[in-house]
Amino acid sequence: MFEFAIARAHAWVDMISKPRMLAVIALLCVLLLIDIAWRGWRLSWSRRMVEGALATLALFHFNFFFVPLVWLCSEKVKQLYALAGIPSIPAEFWTPVSVWLLVPFAVLAHDLANYCNHRLMHLPWLWPVHAIHHSDPDVNGLTAYRIHILEGLVMWVSYTLLLTWLGLPDNAIGIGAVFIALLNVYVHINVDWHHGPFSLLIASPRFHRWHHADVPEAHGKNLANVCPLWDWLFGTYYCPGKCDERMGAAGVPENDVVKLILWPWQEWTRMITARCKALAGHVARLQFGAIKRP
Ligand SMILES: [Zn+2]
Ligand SMILES: [Zn+2]
Repeated sequence: MFEFAIARAHAWVDMISKPRMLAVIALLCVLLLIDIAWRGWRLSWSRRMVEGALATLALFHFNFFFVPLVWLCSEKVKQLYALAGIPSIPAEFWTPVSVWLLVPFAVLAHDLANYCNHRLMHLPWLWPVHAIHHSDPDVNGLTAYRIHILEGLVMWVSYTLLLTWLGLPDNAIGIGAVFIALLNVYVHINVDWHHGPFSLLIASPRFHRWHHADVPEAHGKNLANVCPLWDWLFGTYYCPGKCDERMGAAGVPENDVVKLILWPWQEWTRMITARCKALAGHVARLQFGAIKRP
């Protein structure tokens, strides 16, 4: 375990010094400075905001420490995928295409996979996992990194199943990943910016704030991370104007990290218990009916 911890500490240094992470950290710092200049120190960093930011950072580091377990599981899925013998487009097919055309294509393909994945995460049995992302009562740039480790696993599996066959080159995927990471931080910032005539092409903070709004009409809406066109096509687009609704997810712990990590298992236990009780009641009613009938 000690060696594992040392290895993860080295991996942390590697991760922090990667260009994608440096770009994200620089963007977060700039956004923080703008926010403080705009709202003032006290409003920008209320006690709840500080608690929320610390909870998100704690979750991020918990996930980072245990992410090798996710990789282990996703490797198994990749092996199963390879065994299934699903044909994929050969790498040479993409060679004549410019990387600057491949990047937007890779981003759109990733976003469609993410849309499907996100739609699944809003179904009752996966919601306890995804609810951790929605638990933040003060949505801001850091919220992008508030996810449960099991959500990371679901994402890796869905990308393997939905995108492997495309055989896209690594450089296009890598450049696209930097863009997606920066946009993911941008859409979470606490402003009412929208993109006017380009609103369906590229996600805005207003579009994603509606996704985090805790009101029934917005639940399960605005699921795309990059291109709201997917929501418009599949009937989940909802952006009626400025979003002043409460952020968060009622009933889900807000900033208690231990409760958030345990939340999916706690909810699944509650759901299974409720189903078992309902089934037992149903069987008892059938038996009672059978006894009563002559
Ligand atoms: Zn969601
Ligand atoms: Zn979000």
